[in-house]
Amino acid sequence: MKGVVFLGERKLALQEFPDPTPGPDDVILEIKASGMCGTDLKAYREPFVPGVVRGGIKRSETPVIAGHEPCGVVVEVGANVSERRARVGQRVMDHHYQGCGVCRHCETGWRQMCVDGAIVFGSVDHGAHAP
Ligand SMILES: [Zn+2]
Ligand SMILES: [Zn+2]
Repeated sequence: MKGVVFLGERKLALQEFPDPTPGPDDVILEIKASGMCGTDLKAYREPFVPGVVRGGIKRSETPVIAGHEPCGVVVEVGANVSERRARVGQRVMDHHYQGCGVCRHCETGWRQMCVDGAIVFGSVDHGAHAP
């Protein structure tokens, strides 16, 4: 699978990555659209500095697939994902933060405030500028 990577200083590249496979609690999306916003433009324009924290978001140590405003269709579900939670063919948009899932913030839907620190897709882990 190819994904768009921001190299910094207004350069980007299409790089090859392994196709994703779902963990037990994950789903895989076929991306239908992936937005660009001001956060993306900062990452696109600034030099890539591995691990730097800007605006409260830590950049990855190595380039990751950019894009944090995706929508798509569920194409695969993990072993622990019930039909009630997500099913193949379901159209979804994805909140681009992943937390621990059990702290008071995660349990009330505020994963970006996770007490363990949130993973930000498109900055810290792979995002959605990819199929
Ligand atoms: Zn955004
Ligand atoms: Zn949490």
